[in-house]
Formats: sequence, C-alpha cells, structure tokens
Amino acid sequence: EALKAKGKSFTIATDTTFAPFEFREGGKMVGIDMDLMNAIAKNQGFTITIQSLGFNAALQALSSNQADGVIAGMSITDERKQIYDFSDPYFESGIQMAIAGNDSTIKSYKDLKGKTVVVKSGSEGESYAKSIASKYGFTVKSVDQSATMYEMVKSGNASAVFDDYPVLAYGVSQNNGLKTVTKKVPEGSYGFAVNKGRNAALLAAFNVGLQNLKDNGKYDKVLVKYLGSSA
Ligand code: GLN
Repeated sequence: EALKAKGKSFTIATDTTFAPFEFREGGKMVGIDMDLMNAIAKNQGFTITIQSLGFNAALQALSSNQADGVIAGMSITDERKQIYDFSDPYFESGIQMAIAGNDSTIKSYKDLKGKTVVVKSGSEGESYAKSIASKYGFTVKSVDQSATMYEMVKSGNASAVFDDYPVLAYGVSQNNGLKTVTKKVPEGSYGFAVNKGRNAALLAAFNVGLQNLKDNGKYDKVLVKYLGSSA
C-alpha cells in the first residue's frame, strides 16, 4: 500500500503556530512536525505542499477533502477516530494549564472561580477546560490561534490557558511570559491524520517512513534539534 504513494503529491494542512511542532522561521515553516513530514516524504518518494491554516481550519480542510492529511500536534482520540484515520503515534503529549508569569494568585483550578480561561477552538485543551468549567466556576473563551491565547493571558484578558504541555514548556523556556503551576493531564499521543477511508496509501507511507526514521536515527535527531538533549 505504502508504495502507491510514491511519485504522488499531497496537500498537508497544519496549525499556524504550535512551537516546537510547527512555527515560522525566516518565512519557512519549521518544527518537529514539519521536519518529520518532510523527511518521511523524502524517504517514501512523495512530494508535499504544506498549508499553514490554523488547527480548527486544518481539521475542516481535511473533513472537506481540501487537504489530504493533517499534521498539527493532533492528538489521537476515540472521538476523532470516528472521522479520521490516524498514523502510528509519533509523540506523547498531554494538557496543562499556564498563567501569567507574574501572577501569584492562581495556584490550583479552585482559584479560577469567576475567571476566564482561554483555549484553542477544536483542541483537546478546549474539551478539557469545558469538562471542568462548571465544577470550578470559570468561563471558557475559545480562539483560533496560539498567539492570541498567550497574549490574552499576558494582558490579563484571560487568567489562564489550557494547552499541550510540550508546547507550554517550550514557550516558557523561550521566556514567553507564562508559567505552569498545576499538574499535567494525559491526553494521548500525536498522530498524522487522513480523512476516514481516504488516502490509505499516504497513511501507510507515513507509517513506513516514520519507522524508517526511527531506525536510522533521523527521528531522534529532529527531536533533539527542537527539544534539546531532554528529548
Ligand atoms: N493536541 C491538541 C489537540 O489535538 C492541540 C493541537 C493544536 O493546538 N495544534 O487538540
């Protein structure tokens, strides 16, 4: 099946900014997802066009077959498996809350009472925040871009953000003005997705290519490049 992808070209949709998985550097899309996707395409002999749309927009593009695949730090969930087919998992992740670096008033979810929490539309962070919102008495505001979420927390328009912990940790390490104070919540691993029942060759080629990159050391190299030796 994977061999059928050879020589073909595919449109791959992704998030705009989800560093270290996808972000722009000197006008070019880079990051763990971008490097892995490019290396897999090269390894399996297919070509790709990357569309940096935003997370929710990428999922919509996939659902309407305007994109052949999505790689966007996208968590493999049972709900999503109903509508998408996922590759083998390539990165373990989970959710965490972050607050402004200079905020000493929020130490646990209980301190969110009466406050606004910002999340990304269509994300697992959004589902998680919504699932505990009434218990802790906070309001959930959804926006499309990571940059907007972080700005809202720093400017005080939101008290906290729920996002994936590898992304929050990366941002904090880059001095983005946020900090984490609560525990990580498991949410499952990231996978590459195609629309259900479509692009089976692309999916198979992704899996074979991913395994090849794990075997030849390229996968580890990409992780170390963006996460340092802690990867
Ligand atoms: N991993 C999260 C999800 O799948 C967030 C992905 C993202 O924001 N790009 O919902």
